[in-house]
Amino acid sequence: MATRKPFVGGNWKMSATRAQSLALARLVAESARAHPGVDVAVFPSFPALVEVVGAIGGVGAIGAERSGAVIVGGQDCSSHPSGAFTGQVSAAMIKDTGCTSVLIGHSERRHGLGESDAVLSKKLGMACENGLIPVLCVGETHGEREAGRADAVIATHLRGALAGHTEESMSALVVAYEPVWAIGTGRTATVKDAAEAHRTVRQTLAELYSARFAEQVRVIYGGSVNAKNAAEIFACEEIDGGLVGGASLIAADFSAIIVGAASRISTRGGF
Ligand code: PEP
Repeated sequence: MATRKPFVGGNWKMSATRAQSLALARLVAESARAHPGVDVAVFPSFPALVEVVGAIGGVGAIGAERSGAVIVGGQDCSSHPSGAFTGQVSAAMIKDTGCTSVLIGHSERRHGLGESDAVLSKKLGMACENGLIPVLCVGETHGEREAGRADAVIATHLRGALAGHTEESMSALVVAYEPVWAIGTGRTATVKDAAEAHRTVRQTLAELYSARFAEQVRVIYGGSVNAKNAAEIFACEEIDGGLVGGASLIAADFSAIIVGAASRISTRGGF
């Protein structure tokens, strides 16, 4: 049986001021401390990163590693290392804030801003070169699912973004399966469909790299996870946790989602 540590991330999108982010972060840290068997991550907007990292991040204000800390990450990084790219933020800059992770290819960027797999592949490279845990988002639109193309789309997203990257360089990779039609809609994939998609992710990783690598990578589900449905979704063997949007902005709900991931551990006897 796989012994992957559950990972639960809160994507705060463009929803919180610095003060709101700090207040939320402190509450999330309490839940994270109570459940050390779960990797808890938050993805605040760029202006809040330094303060959130200083309050709850893996690297404290004096640069010391904190135990039981929350993973803090950026919501995106540039595909370029530096230079004349107005409005963009490099992976090195995100690292410099003390962050330890970054989201790559969220559907609001893939579909909303037209980011291609080729661009995402470069971003993934930047994240890994800078020692950030990349959370790579993949997933089909409603039309693609209706057309029976969900698995093909997931495989294409993975193959495109991982092109040119070695297994070694991707050792920290987390994959978030996020069906586009489930994000922010209140509709979730059935556990059966999500499990099938997660198996497709692992199968593709095995083909690209090795069965060992595919077995160790954490694959999490995103799409209208909430306090009520989290435990049922995370009870599925293939689903190693979740990426959460709306419900991550409400501390009590996000805490219940962390508890849902922690119950996965007690059910399975890991960690
Ligand atoms: C997301 O933004 O990644 C997400 C899954 O959002 P929500 O939980 O609101 O569907």
